[in-house]
Amino acid sequence: MVDSASDDRLETRLVHAGEPTPRADGAVAMPVFQSSTFTIDRARGEAGYHDLRYIRLNNTPNQLALAAKLAAIEGGEAALVTGSGMAAISTTLLSLLGAGDHLLAQRELYGGTHALLTDNLPRLGIGATFIDAGAPASWKAALRPTTRVLYVEAISNPLLRIGDLAAAASFARAHGLVSIIDATFATPVNLRPIDLGFDLVLHSATKYLNGHSDIVAGALIGRAVLVEKTKHLLDHLGGSLDPHACFLLQRGLKTLSLRVRHQSASALTLARFLEAHPAVAAVHYPGLESHPDHARARPWFSGFGGVLSFELRGGVEAADRLIARARLPLHAPSLGGPETLLTRPATASHAGLTPEDRARAGLPDALLRLCVGLEAPEDLLADLDQALR
Ligand SMILES: *Cc1c(COP(=O)(O)O)cnc(C)c1O
Repeated sequence: MVDSASDDRLETRLVHAGEPTPRADGAVAMPVFQSSTFTIDRARGEAGYHDLRYIRLNNTPNQLALAAKLAAIEGGEAALVTGSGMAAISTTLLSLLGAGDHLLAQRELYGGTHALLTDNLPRLGIGATFIDAGAPASWKAALRPTTRVLYVEAISNPLLRIGDLAAAASFARAHGLVSIIDATFATPVNLRPIDLGFDLVLHSATKYLNGHSDIVAGALIGRAVLVEKTKHLLDHLGGSLDPHACFLLQRGLKTLSLRVRHQSASALTLARFLEAHPAVAAVHYPGLESHPDHARARPWFSGFGGVLSFELRGGVEAADRLIARARLPLHAPSLGGPETLLTRPATASHAGLTPEDRARAGLPDALLRLCVGLEAPEDLLADLDQALR
């Protein structure tokens, strides 16, 4: 539940919200309660199965403190922490949809989510129609009497497109759908989905929320009845987060604002540098005025995150040469950590697609994705400059 001191600004909530009051045995940092089970406290009225405290039941001290912090920073009624971003996504969708139900989903989805919607959910009798998130006028035609959910992502990967997010939330409300946004690429620092009207906000906390490339975790924040429903299914599906990973995520969250503002500013600097470079054919970053969604998204975003993609004039060969010559960026997938990461999505996140599918998705094989870390932007810029020469 939201901390009572909810008038505090985001930076203050990141530090203080959800922390136990009084502190556990005076410890300033929340300790790790590395215990799978807890004694039954008759005085607290614990009796039935659902009152027992057990890690899989998502009700142990580290999980509850973290959920309270997440609810407070995202501005939601309630929150749930999960064993991965995909555990949050799959459990939420399975709690809202059953056999015969249907959802509308943005066409460019995170690969795991796309596979869930196209491979796994149809086997359970759950259908999906993919929509152009930037064209609200086309959505009504995709509605069915069985449509229950509208699902979008804050910023798509790897072309960094931003749909009409305000229209998505109001369309869902008007048609009785639950609106869900995967805000992993935006974070609560750059986007406030609940203020835009979304019912549920999902995160791969593996990325920016934790921010240190050392755990896998997920989160769900939003309307209490929906979070509670998902929690009951999570109890049964078993995708809970262990206390030590909770501890690391809670620690990482305290510096979220500092990290994301640095990464967003660095990414904009590098995007402007690349856009002006003669070896670069195109740059995709929603913070650039040249980005097709910049004008629409500007009022909703305080920054556009650390991920950008670009194409070199020299094609695939030049792209692979850049990866080999760059000194600082590590050649690894994922994002949101201290280390800048550089990949060619055709051989990484989108390697599962055929060349034809990639072409249809408007994804050139030569596209490079840069996930900016916490290094000095001047060093990253100088490194890219020497690697491009
Ligand atoms: C990484 C990612 C996920 C999946 O999260 P995991 O923590 O790897 O399960 C979902 N959505 C987006 C946008 C992601 O980047």
